[in-house]
Amino acid sequence: MQLGTDLLALAYLVSATLFILGLKGLTHPASARRGNYYAMAGMILAVVATLLNPAMKSYSFIIAGVVIGAVIGTVIALKIKMTAMPQLVALLHSFVGLTAVLVAVGTYYDRAVLGSPDPVLMTELFIGAFIGAITFTGSLVAFGKLQALISGKPLVFRGQHLVNLVVSLVAVACGIEFVMHDNLLALFIMLALALLLGVLLIVPIGGADMPVVVSMLNSYSGWAATATGFTLENNLLIITGALVGFSGAILSYIMSRAMNRSIVSIILGGFGSGGGSDQAVAVAADRRVKTASVEDAVFLMANASKVIIAPGYGMAVAQAQHALKELMDLLESKGVNIRFAIHPVAGRMPGHMNVLLAEADVPYDRVFEMDEINPEFSTADVVIVVGANDVTNPAAKSEKTSPIYGMPILDVYKARQVFFIKRSMSPGYSGVDNLLFYQDNCALIFGDAKKVCENMAAELRSV
Ligand code: NDP
Repeated sequence: MQLGTDLLALAYLVSATLFILGLKGLTHPASARRGNYYAMAGMILAVVATLLNPAMKSYSFIIAGVVIGAVIGTVIALKIKMTAMPQLVALLHSFVGLTAVLVAVGTYYDRAVLGSPDPVLMTELFIGAFIGAITFTGSLVAFGKLQALISGKPLVFRGQHLVNLVVSLVAVACGIEFVMHDNLLALFIMLALALLLGVLLIVPIGGADMPVVVSMLNSYSGWAATATGFTLENNLLIITGALVGFSGAILSYIMSRAMNRSIVSIILGGFGSGGGSDQAVAVAADRRVKTASVEDAVFLMANASKVIIAPGYGMAVAQAQHALKELMDLLESKGVNIRFAIHPVAGRMPGHMNVLLAEADVPYDRVFEMDEINPEFSTADVVIVVGANDVTNPAAKSEKTSPIYGMPILDVYKARQVFFIKRSMSPGYSGVDNLLFYQDNCALIFGDAKKVCENMAAELRSV
């Protein structure tokens, strides 16, 4: 069976609407599950409609691709840990980039489609290949950094921006030569330069600034898909690519504001450099910290009127969210006011903390975003930091040479007493020593976050 062009267009329209409803659903944790169902229904419809496209010539390659892809995808989806999601997302973006390059080159070779070189199509091929190549290598470098396969430290050299500018200009000039004179060599030189540019744009970005890069590459992958949609004359791919491109761009904007970074610096590459972990460890070596026991913390919490919990990446690693929920219930039963404070880049992906707390059934009205909760820290009796580090580091406010300088933080240092749960003195993702550890009102409780929270709950039950 094959669909007529009108029915195909209708199916694509319904799919696009379902994708938009899906995105709308993802704007709030309460509707996120429904949003996912809409998006899944949209994708199933899109795939089925495309398979029934009258232009479809043969199914054998498609079936082989779907089977192999489905097996690999299912295994990865079942095995992947939540904490490794950002690198998986980065890797998936690289596939979109590579696809855009392959479609552009493949379409060029398919002379039956191209006929005599059409400048509009040639321009589409150039744009698709250019964005796709940058997305491909940029995402691979981001994957390598997030997976710790390559150093997360910013790689900076003199004249970096000039090199980026020259490479970009020569690549665009080659693209124009390709479009104007059907020069295949120019296309391949442009591709090589764009691949290099992807690397150059991402290597200078370090530590705490990676979340913005991941969302920016997400946006690039959307634009690469849109360009592919134009090449293949597939309206749904154009719409879907634009949705991803714009939502990624908006997310990059929100994240860059949350990190107090300029979006232009991100697009040009090379921000967030400097400092680094060597300096951090040196500072840590000659300063003393206070430690506390679970009993100390429970005593103060049980007698507090307001306790704020600031979770971070360590909560995700330890899977401490359920123990925290139990702690919350026990404290609330004693009349303590409990709130959770969420930093926009806490964890390793946007919304990471919200997802985990929702999974543990923490009510949404106890969960507060950074801007809402920051004015409340000065009136909190106790703050429990659970495996968060960078997002609480006052160095972001005071140390001008620090790589995280300028990044807004959760103002936990203003609380009467802070208990910091972590396993060691290691720094957070940015490699910067946390100045909060050395404040008089801060005490560290060393241990795995889940174990410590469970012990706290057990102790609280016995009080
Ligand atoms: P950090 O990475 O700064 O710190 C996490 C802390 O958790 C560490 O200090 C670690 O210390 C502790 N920890 C790890 N495992 C455990 C455990 N089992 N039990 C207790 N503690 C544990 O996390 P934050 O959430 O504060 O900040 C996120 C960082 O990640 C930011 O720099 C952000 O820019 C970056 N990032 C964020 C992304 C996003 O989209 N949200 C994406 C990519 C990067 P120890 O080892 O001593 O236990």
